[in-house]
Amino acid sequence: MPDMETIVSLAKRRGFIFPGSEIYGGLGGFWDYGPLGVELKNNIKAAWWKAVVQERDDVVGVDAAILMNPAVWQSSGHADSFVEPLADCLSCKKRFRADKLAPGQTTCPECGGELTATRWFNTMFKTFVGPVEADAIHTWLRPETAQGIFVNFQNVQTTMRKKLPFGIAQIGKAFRNEIVTGNFIFRDREFEQMEVEYFVKPGSDEEWYRRWIEDRWNWWLGLGLRAENLRIRPHGEDEKAHYASACVDIEYCFPEPLGWAELEGIANRQDYDLAHHTAGSGKDLSYFDEETKEHVMPYVIEPSGGVDRAALVFLLDAYHEEQVRGEKRVVLRLHKDLAPIKVAVLPLLRNRPEVVAVARQIAARLKPHLNAMYDDTASIGRLYRRQDEIGTLYCVTVDVQSLDDQQVTIRDRDTMEQIRVPIAAVVDVLRAKITNQQIGKSANC
Ligand code: ATP
Repeated sequence: MPDMETIVSLAKRRGFIFPGSEIYGGLGGFWDYGPLGVELKNNIKAAWWKAVVQERDDVVGVDAAILMNPAVWQSSGHADSFVEPLADCLSCKKRFRADKLAPGQTTCPECGGELTATRWFNTMFKTFVGPVEADAIHTWLRPETAQGIFVNFQNVQTTMRKKLPFGIAQIGKAFRNEIVTGNFIFRDREFEQMEVEYFVKPGSDEEWYRRWIEDRWNWWLGLGLRAENLRIRPHGEDEKAHYASACVDIEYCFPEPLGWAELEGIANRQDYDLAHHTAGSGKDLSYFDEETKEHVMPYVIEPSGGVDRAALVFLLDAYHEEQVRGEKRVVLRLHKDLAPIKVAVLPLLRNRPEVVAVARQIAARLKPHLNAMYDDTASIGRLYRRQDEIGTLYCVTVDVQSLDDQQVTIRDRDTMEQIRVPIAAVVDVLRAKITNQQIGKSANC
């Protein structure tokens, strides 16, 4: 496992993730995704959406507004209780999450100075809606995407004619004014969440809770994470959120000092949210059960993961250093669905216009099918190293011989094996390798 610094440096050097507003000295807890980072993040979100929405009959998606009527946050309990305990060091002025200090600790863990008493701090970002602050409605940037789902429960259920059990999924930005940020993109003040609220009949909630834990665990493994770096940790009674009857975290073993920490939480929220929004809005959000002819308030199972934490984990888990012919090779063994660039087309000689022309033509033919790039900015050895380091699955190399025999070399990122393939077959060969499909045949024939 690499240390965090190695990943931070690779992410910066290779265009995955940059500190937010860096030329002005940055802003704590805000990060910008560069050209490769945005591809990685989009691929993570696409893989999640495919597994959670598109491949299932029982889940549909929404994309709700980030700013909501402040009454939403009153009813959900966030306005009063989305708080974290905070303690300051009177000597070095450092700020700490009091719940992350040792029990009963009254001195600063960094300098030994005296700590203030614990104060509670609401971590929602306040803002106002309307042009004149004094007359405006004050609300908050959403600290989770879940509430945008609950307030649309009835809209979605009736328009899509959904019967219990069914789920509503959403991917979107969330904002928390975290007391302490850090560990790169592990804890940010602006981040993205991937959440499902899965509505079930009371009584079937425990069964669905177990099924979602299993599904989500398998999703992470299916995208290549090593099982030894993942674990499921049930919350203790003292840790559980007030609305949850049960909760587990899927945790990843991050580099020290972080160690095992949450990647995704799966909670049984019971009927807390729909019942509170019914009370707060005056709109009955119960569900009419056609079979029993009764109104029930659905229970909710919530798998909730972070896109940024996922990106960090996939980068950490994929990072490998190995010795190849006496030299260090760094390779990101990202799952093929996640790799930002699938194929790089490289001319062996960039000063031979005929070679360059063929390489550019192959890249152009690949682009409609998969994310391919052309690169001639360095010698072939350096180009391979760069592509390995960003996790590109295959490199296609065009050499002088290609002009005669109309063949090119395809190099595999993981095995470094090279095969010679007719130029006319390159697109089909690579599509078959990357999509695991026989081109020209449908999957079931
Ligand atoms: P933590 O205990 O780490 O603060 P949490 O229990 O508050 O997390 P949830 O409210 O369960 O987190 O949020 C669901 C998911 O959203 C988390 O599993 C995580 O992946 C992501 N997430 C939460 N807070 C942050 C943050 N500040 N930065 C990045 N991702 C976050």
